[in-house]
Amino acid sequence: MAVPKKKTSKSRRNMRRSHHALGASAHAECKNCGELSRPHHVCPACGHYNQREVVEVATSA
Ligand SMILES: [Zn+2]
Repeated sequence: MAVPKKKTSKSRRNMRRSHHALGASAHAECKNCGELSRPHHVCPACGHYNQREVVEVATSA
């Protein structure tokens, strides 16, 4: 089994992890309700996609 010869220092480890941060996810405004939703996905707030309702959304009121 291949084994590292030297312990990775905190500095090297942290330098490697400097690229691991998560970026902001893509978002777009729903054309029906104005809620932010993921592009190319059905709006979770109103169930619309491509300006028509495609999924029934359970409403508490
Ligand atoms: Zn919507």
